[in-house]
Amino acid sequence: MLERLRHWREARTIKRLDISMESWEQAVAVWPVVARYRGAQREKLYRTSLLLLADKAITAADDLALTRDMQLLVATMAAVPVLEIGRHWYRGWSTIILYESAFVPEHEWQDEYGIVHTERHALSGEAWLQGPVILSWEDVLDCRHERNVVIHELSHKLDMLNGDANGFPPLHRGMDGAAWYKVFTDAWQQLDQESRHHQTGRLDDYGLTDEGEFFSVASETFFQQPRHLKQRYPALYQQLSLFYQQTPDKPHAGQ
Ligand SMILES: [Zn+2]
Repeated sequence: MLERLRHWREARTIKRLDISMESWEQAVAVWPVVARYRGAQREKLYRTSLLLLADKAITAADDLALTRDMQLLVATMAAVPVLEIGRHWYRGWSTIILYESAFVPEHEWQDEYGIVHTERHALSGEAWLQGPVILSWEDVLDCRHERNVVIHELSHKLDMLNGDANGFPPLHRGMDGAAWYKVFTDAWQQLDQESRHHQTGRLDDYGLTDEGEFFSVASETFFQQPRHLKQRYPALYQQLSLFYQQTPDKPHAGQ
């Protein structure tokens, strides 16, 4: 009964948005990853993207002229990681703010003497515990290789569902926490070695910032360049596949 009610509500939300599958296709064509989803899975991605557009406020800061197509592209990139695990994984926050390009947030922190310091760094994205997700539109469009700032920041949100972004999101029933920890530690050490030897084709060194960044960088590559990740870091690919409940190295046709 509840399930039927949910389906009815979702169908009504999608109808109200009045965005055809053709308009959605046009808005998201710049992102190569969408081509991987075919048949029933493509339809599911379209529907999930529209529901996220209704769930979250996707707004613009500064002078960025926001269009419906821009919102659709961001919503679709956001839809991919939760396509199988469900939109409820994005609970507890409501807003995505787009800046035209890299922005400079001011971070205040207090030292042991009670003095407040302000830090400034240019960022392409930011996700706060229970706060908004902030993205640079210029970086959203830079989605043809291994990086994807939307997936990066939203995987921090998944990671933060059980506290800080520490590379250890809540795992599904049947997943093994010890195996997750070992695989991620081994992959970290592998990347650290590859980085020291300047090996090509490795994960982005930004992943070595901390465990939370490692999970987000690995998540980006999992969706952007899955075959490469599977070949280079097979155990890491396997854990991410269990977590996201997807096999992006193969085309998704669905039933
Ligand atoms: Zn990050």
